[in-house]
Amino acid sequence: MNEPPHGKPAVFLDRDGTLNLDFVEYVTTVEDFHLLEGVGQALRRLRAAGYLLVVITNQACLAKGLLDERGLKKIHGHMEHLLGEEGVSLDGIYFCPDHPEATVEKYRDQNNRRKPEPGMILEAADQLAIDLSKSWMIGDKPNDAQAGKRAGCRTILLTGAELSEEQPDHPADTQHADFTAENLLEAAEIVIQQDVGPAQDQQSPIKKTLRQRSTELDSRQLLSDILRELRHQRIAPQHREFSISKMLAGMAQCGVLLCLVMAYVAFSYWSGRALLISLMVGLTLQMMVVALLLVHRSS
Ligand SMILES: [Mg+2]
Repeated sequence: MNEPPHGKPAVFLDRDGTLNLDFVEYVTTVEDFHLLEGVGQALRRLRAAGYLLVVITNQACLAKGLLDERGLKKIHGHMEHLLGEEGVSLDGIYFCPDHPEATVEKYRDQNNRRKPEPGMILEAADQLAIDLSKSWMIGDKPNDAQAGKRAGCRTILLTGAELSEEQPDHPADTQHADFTAENLLEAAEIVIQQDVGPAQDQQSPIKKTLRQRSTELDSRQLLSDILRELRHQRIAPQHREFSISKMLAGMAQCGVLLCLVMAYVAFSYWSGRALLISLMVGLTLQMMVVALLLVHRSS
């Protein structure tokens, strides 16, 4: 593979146990897919620092016949939807359905795509014009770190207990990784602090210190989060401005005014009975107005 002379930096991400909770042996349904806490924030930070975000995942469940490619596409669509709600998008998803002992014959293959081999990372680098020397591989298993190393990336192994029911087989397994982190958010901090935001490096003529740049990225992320929250708050009242109960309250209030006019006329020209009826109807309508406005406020 010929690496582009000015390729982009990327963070390659394992899927199960890195982005989503690894609590079943194989994720075969949308219901089994739950994003881990802090993943959205971590990916927004990496995106703001100028990295492409690419998922690299072994999916032996296809080789074992537990899931087909259509089902996997549905799960990945759900993953992208959840990430979209967190304000982040992926630049690519690469999966390896192959396994040397596959029960599904078309997937029985030993090739260089399945981690710890680097094939999927090299394929993504070629297709997305990525500079591997500026890139990182993050995952929760030693084979993620091995694949990243073999592709020429720096690597981070996640070790947090909340990622998975399994832990790395033994402490020595961390030797494959350049760094270890509790979770993806901590790993994103390591990446940014090590590289000091590659996009900003190219744009700024003045060399700034690592700490200054990290602070700038944190501030920018904070501002972005505040703006997003304000947009949500601005939209929400507009939806509540109009409601059926508020419209009915307005109509009932008009009825109250009409009853008062009729009561006045009855008092001047008609019988006392008409006056009583007008006042009773007016009072009932006024109570309806209050009830409808309470319903509007609580909705
Ligand atoms: Mg994993």
